[in-house]
Amino acid sequence: MSGTGPVRGRYAPSPTGQLHLGNLRTAILAWLSARAAGGEFVLRIEDLDSGRSREKWVEVQLGELRQIGIDWDGDPVRQSGRHGLYSEAIGILRAKGLVYDCFCTRAEIREAASAPHGDLPEGAYPGTCRDLTASQLRDRLAEDRPPALRVRAEAATYEFEDVLCGTVGGRVDDFVVRRNDGDFAYNLAVAADDADQQVTEVVRGADLLETTGRQLWLYRQLGLTPPSRWVHVPLMLGQDGARLAKRHGAVTLEERLARGETIAGVVGELAGSVGLVPEDSRLMPADLLAGFGWQSIRGSG
Ligand code: GLU
Repeated sequence: MSGTGPVRGRYAPSPTGQLHLGNLRTAILAWLSARAAGGEFVLRIEDLDSGRSREKWVEVQLGELRQIGIDWDGDPVRQSGRHGLYSEAIGILRAKGLVYDCFCTRAEIREAASAPHGDLPEGAYPGTCRDLTASQLRDRLAEDRPPALRVRAEAATYEFEDVLCGTVGGRVDDFVVRRNDGDFAYNLAVAADDADQQVTEVVRGADLLETTGRQLWLYRQLGLTPPSRWVHVPLMLGQDGARLAKRHGAVTLEERLARGETIAGVVGELAGSVGLVPEDSRLMPADLLAGFGWQSIRGSG
């Protein structure tokens, strides 16, 4: 349930390309939810993945959000400038004995994870490096391959209420908080950032539903207050039912405008695709503020 204090929503794009219509739809819904409640709305640039993030996409994405009428409070926060915050979080976990070095390659994990492991979710890390002896650890550290850092989740479970998905629960696996190339991992950064930015409601794509349990575990271990409201919105699908991608044709605002469509027409289509208005509406997100409520959202592509 939503808390009683002021609402603070956020949108957190990764600058790895132009935003596609699905990203824009999620951004509109996140913005509407926060602003319709009279709340604040902040942006966070998730540029931690140094291999895939590009500076030019930051400006392009901010421009696309402005074009569709989304505004935000304060300057966007950049994950690449917040390594201190993430290191601090890892320090707390380390002091509590809740992290360990993992030397497994992807292939080794895939192989081990395909064997049955009690009640662990499919694909979960099977714990190969969890209990290495001091001498095994020394030997592995002497090899060339640097370790990733995983949490010791110890069969913790989680449960939360999602506004659209209902009660969601499961078991937390030993997920990675720092990759073996040194980059901080998504879940660690997102939990540290959402807490630091005092976010009270998270609206994001349903592909991230399963990450929430890991983030809730981090909030608990780091002594942070989690957001009080979670909304995982349906992903936008192409006509073939697959997740929207470049091969589906004109999937960015720029491509739609180049086809002669208008911004209001594209926004109307996006709002229409989740049942907020008839699909052929032409409007801007601000026109949807009065009367916005999640109960009118249709969970479709
Ligand atoms: N940066 C993620 C993305 O672009 C979103 C992360 C989040 O909202 O928690 O998919």
